[in-house]
Amino acid sequence: MKNETNSKRIRIAVIDFKKCSPQKCGFQCISVCPVNRLGKECITKSTELKPVISEVLCTGCKICVHKCPFNAISIVNLSAELHTPIHQFGKNGFRLYGLPVPAEKQVVGLIGRNGIGKSTALKILSGKIIPNLGETKKNYEEIKEFFKGKELQAFFEKLSLGKIRVSLKPQAISKIPESFNGTVGELLEQFNESGKLPEIVKRMGLSGVLSSNISNISGGELQRLAIAAAMLKEADVYFFDEPTSYLDVGERLKIARQIRALAETGKSVMVVEHDLAVLDYLSDLVHVLFGQKSVYGVISSRQSVRNGINQYLEGYLKTENIRFREKEIRFAVSSPIKEITRKKAIEYPAMEKKFNNFSLKTESGIIMKGEVLGVLGPNATGKTTFVKMLAGELKPDKGRLEFSFSVSFKPQYLKPIKGKTVKEFIDESNVDIELFNREAVNAFNLRELFERKLEELSGGELQKIAIAVTICREADLVLLDEPSAFLDIEERLNAASLIKSITLQKENACLVVDHDVLFQDYLSDRLIVFKGIPSKKGHALAPQEMESGMNEFLSSLGITFRRDPQTGRPRANKPDSQKDKEQKKANKYYYA
Ligand code: SF4
Ligand code: SF4
Repeated sequence: MKNETNSKRIRIAVIDFKKCSPQKCGFQCISVCPVNRLGKECITKSTELKPVISEVLCTGCKICVHKCPFNAISIVNLSAELHTPIHQFGKNGFRLYGLPVPAEKQVVGLIGRNGIGKSTALKILSGKIIPNLGETKKNYEEIKEFFKGKELQAFFEKLSLGKIRVSLKPQAISKIPESFNGTVGELLEQFNESGKLPEIVKRMGLSGVLSSNISNISGGELQRLAIAAAMLKEADVYFFDEPTSYLDVGERLKIARQIRALAETGKSVMVVEHDLAVLDYLSDLVHVLFGQKSVYGVISSRQSVRNGINQYLEGYLKTENIRFREKEIRFAVSSPIKEITRKKAIEYPAMEKKFNNFSLKTESGIIMKGEVLGVLGPNATGKTTFVKMLAGELKPDKGRLEFSFSVSFKPQYLKPIKGKTVKEFIDESNVDIELFNREAVNAFNLRELFERKLEELSGGELQKIAIAVTICREADLVLLDEPSAFLDIEERLNAASLIKSITLQKENACLVVDHDVLFQDYLSDRLIVFKGIPSKKGHALAPQEMESGMNEFLSSLGITFRRDPQTGRPRANKPDSQKDKEQKKANKYYYA
């Protein structure tokens, strides 16, 4: 991170004590530190026999960082303007700078990567942690004094008097069935403080599953259940942590409208969301988050949604005068490369597949060399079945698929192999190891995961390994089913660049099924659109150009997108806005 004009820096040293093991290394950091060697006490031993680094004496040479055998130390230089952390987890611990500010009747979005203080911020705003301002324990009087004259002073005043009630939709919804055994209806009854249960059940589309046990419902239903439960609570501030995972594009936009409606009733709403099109659609204001995972996090001042997202993509915060990413992210404004400029890689026939209550028809298609073909459509219309037929995992009832091409396939649900380390898994995965080390390891920061066991990885870490291995195998056709799931915004954009670049280098074909419209726009050359009635029948159209494909797809949802002139990113128009009306009249749902 660099400040454009101010060269003053403060140094932070963070030790990950879950990794640090002095018994095994004999305090190597102490013996190599050049400041210690000069007789000063830069790194010392605590009474618990753990290393402690003095940020005042440390010169930032990073010798200890490189010599520590367990990668436990991080040394970072920060802009001097960030001198007071809002909260710090002990000496040499993670620290957070800045806090998001809730706003009445508005939706405030948080944009940025995971692991840099979002949960800490939510815990502070919900009163679960009293911030310590980087020192010892503080009380609310001191916190109010610290924020004197700012919006947060009034917020902490009310919070300290118990006058702010908070409702939170957690990120990890898969844990809900572990803590509650009962039906959807029974769970919702427990949260029904507002008495709006029938109305919310209808709005969330949960009527059909009220009597189902929550361990038997789909990921999308579980997500809608978690959102409904949060909405049913009587609160002043509502937090929604990643409300769109497992939902298709239509469901995402419906949920976004419900969240906006909550703010319109006078509530303050805060949302963490990695689907940028959805975040843009539902937020009035945003805070940008940046930093280094498990080391430090910075929360920017509040900005208009357009400026905030644009500055995030640009990697530069104007108000703070801070550049936090070297590379700017831009979207292609013109329609991508035409198929005539490329040679044919894969040809597949029209196919049909029937199950007990579901049938799928797919039109024939051609995928070009070096081409990424996006796949968009509602949940339960046969996208995964189509991918599995192409991968040879399912036999079509009609349409002979000649397997003269090799396939590398990443399924939607990843099952880690027990007992294997990441390194062992990569070594056995038949990847082009030179390409893997050159492109994927750095793009996804994979080296630090090599010695970890697959079953211990988070959903996002496992996803990055699975994507990297799948695209770096020798194959004519690469199939990626929902690669953006569990990835934060930065990782999604990295993944899109990596998939695109490796497909071009290898000159094979790549098919990507995903519900994130910006991710698809950034990544795909053309589109396959799925239509149909969820869980009854599906119809896959032949591959088509992005513009006509997106038009086809978005017109079925009744939503229009324009392009942001500064970054080229697609932005959803607010329903019935002038742009929305104009574009619908001209039948231009996209690229207008
Ligand atoms: Fe050893 Fe690294 Fe811990 Fe220092 S930080 S004691 S080098 S494990
Ligand atoms: Fe010592 Fe250099 Fe490590 Fe600072 S960065 S603690 S000076 S070895």
